[in-house]
Amino acid sequence: MADLETTLDARLAALSDADLARGLDIFRAKLGAAGAASLQTCVHCGLCAGSCHYYLTDHEPASMPAHKLEQIAAGFRGRFTLAGRLAPALVGARPFDRALARTWIEAAFGRCSTCGRCSLNCTTGVNVAAVVRAARATLTELGLIPADLQQVVTTALETGNNMGITREDWLDTVQWIEEETQGAVNDPAARIPVDRQGANILFTVNPREPKFFPLGLQASATVFHAAGEDWTVASEGWDLTNYGLFSGNNAEGGAIAVNLLDSMERLGCRTLVIGECGHGFAAARWESAEWLRRRPSFRIISFLELMEEYFQQGRLKVDPTRLKERVTLHDPCNTVRQGGISEPQRSILRRCVSDFVEMTPHGAENFCCGGGGGQLAMAEYRQKRLQAGGVKAEQIRATGARIVVAPCHNCIDQLMELNREYKLGVVIKTVAEIVADALILPSAPSSDKENHDVAC
Ligand code: SF4
Ligand code: SF4
Ligand code: SF4
Repeated sequence: MADLETTLDARLAALSDADLARGLDIFRAKLGAAGAASLQTCVHCGLCAGSCHYYLTDHEPASMPAHKLEQIAAGFRGRFTLAGRLAPALVGARPFDRALARTWIEAAFGRCSTCGRCSLNCTTGVNVAAVVRAARATLTELGLIPADLQQVVTTALETGNNMGITREDWLDTVQWIEEETQGAVNDPAARIPVDRQGANILFTVNPREPKFFPLGLQASATVFHAAGEDWTVASEGWDLTNYGLFSGNNAEGGAIAVNLLDSMERLGCRTLVIGECGHGFAAARWESAEWLRRRPSFRIISFLELMEEYFQQGRLKVDPTRLKERVTLHDPCNTVRQGGISEPQRSILRRCVSDFVEMTPHGAENFCCGGGGGQLAMAEYRQKRLQAGGVKAEQIRATGARIVVAPCHNCIDQLMELNREYKLGVVIKTVAEIVADALILPSAPSSDKENHDVAC
């Protein structure tokens, strides 16, 4: 934290009054009319407090959604409302100075994962996450973004993926995962095609998979093989992540988003499939068209939706009796609450496992794992992130599940840390891993037919 404070002190000290004034102009532009209305419609009922995993775990007033909103609104009112200019003390208005900018940093980056849960529980529909994003965008343009979060964006811009994986390493990894997949499905014809022109599906990947979780990519390849899909990955423009969503810099978000669109155009594929990643899905499906002012001419879907389509089309057969341990499901905020994809993953799990239990609450009311909003990239807030994840840890513990399925690699990273921190003793998997384990492949051994509940 000392490093962050030293760096921020230096950056704040370097800002001129003109920079700060420009910052408020940026904020107003990013906020738009709907966001500005959100700043004025909070009735201070306090009901949102119990919906935020930060407040539930630290009980500090600064972690209440309404408090974060109020800190951000104070600067806006001081400049853009008549009451704020005439009687600032009466309406909680403050000049946007260095002290308030520092408070914004803490509220927008340090105590919010932009999960959107408070908005769902707000009596007047205040969109706190949207206001926080506008504040982040402002801070980023003023150079006040935590350096390691910006570094992820910069790496993606400079190398085409957020971990700086070289083309050679990516292709080597794809090749050996292909060989592993052939062994696992007992079929030398199983492929991970690269740059297959005109393929039906272009499948995109979170760099954490080739770097740390190759079994995730192998599971996806197994599902494609079983479904008999005409698919490909791209040699370049394959990373589905987009941390521009977290920094709030739409220009950089758009410059990253264009990589996937270029791959689609170069390869002439029909459907862009976003692998299991909450924010990657939100960025590609919902945000990129706005950032780029360009509507894609092809379908963009989540791998969860595609796998469920395969089941509905009878292209996958599974044995749910293989996995007897209790399984629960984590709902990534960006996939479920903000992305609208809730049922496919549940339907898939009901087909593939014999003991599936929901967390309480779940679906759109899920609690964030604490790793969202770029929190995993900001080392300075690690302790806060693990503390905030305590809500998710207790949700998991209460299910009695031994396996937690999380269709988001950011969530998986956070859940793995929570697993150690809170001694949960669980195994964390993607949905594709569960499907791959349950698949009945033509050449694979299967258990007693009478016990099969073949779901297709
Ligand atoms: S968006 Fe999520 S993390 Fe941010 S204040 Fe609301 S509930 Fe808390
Ligand atoms: S629930 Fe909505 S109106 Fe009530 S304090 Fe929270 S943000 Fe304000
Ligand atoms: S890390 Fe996961 S749970 Fe948490 S905000 Fe992203 S998608 Fe939400």
